[in-house]
Amino acid sequence: MKIKENLASLKKNLSENVILVAVSKTKPIKDLLEAYNAGQKIFGENKIQEMVSKWQLMPKDIKWHMIGHVQTNKVKYMAPFVDFIHAVDSIKLLKEIQKQAEKNNRHIKCLIQIRIAQEETKFGITPDELELLLDTSKSFNNVLIEGLMGMASFTEDKNQIRREFQLLKSIYDKYSSFKVLSMGMSGDYNIAIEEGSNMIRVGSKIFGERFY
Ligand SMILES: *Cc1c(COP(=O)(O)O)cnc(C)c1O
Repeated sequence: MKIKENLASLKKNLSENVILVAVSKTKPIKDLLEAYNAGQKIFGENKIQEMVSKWQLMPKDIKWHMIGHVQTNKVKYMAPFVDFIHAVDSIKLLKEIQKQAEKNNRHIKCLIQIRIAQEETKFGITPDELELLLDTSKSFNNVLIEGLMGMASFTEDKNQIRREFQLLKSIYDKYSSFKVLSMGMSGDYNIAIEEGSNMIRVGSKIFGERFY
């Protein structure tokens, strides 16, 4: 495995203000440990069950980010330890995160997922829905809305990807309370950073291709 080398070359060109989430979904514990031993302390997973079992097995100073779509009835399993939830896309989900965070006497950091891709399949809400969600969340004391997350279209068209990231950045800039803009994956994180991302979610560039 070249995980350590992959991480090093990725970080060499990364500016200090960009947070790297190492996306370890589908990868075995030994791969995560290799990244951990190379100094990586932030990991992203997209399935709650898988994240819970990895949390149980891995060192406890890791910050776990849930980057995938979240089903409301599963929030309770990660509420005791999850650091960031990236893909919040409904008031119903936010309400449940508040409930479970309060139960665990914790604060959970959340990002609201905005639909920026032209593709139909992506999750996320519109900028109009964002207003309402932020209003509602004002009474949620255990939820910290840190910023926004978005995914660009799966396309070779770099200009389209750039335009989609620019759209997300322009929405992000409207809210002075936001601190985190999560955009960019293995294939497009350079464009994302050029367009103002300060948190990238990188999987295959670190851990290699995923086969399932
Ligand atoms: C899998 C995944 C990533 C990482 O994808 P790579 O192309 O392997 O870097 C980033 N964000 C989300 C939401 C993902 O599901």
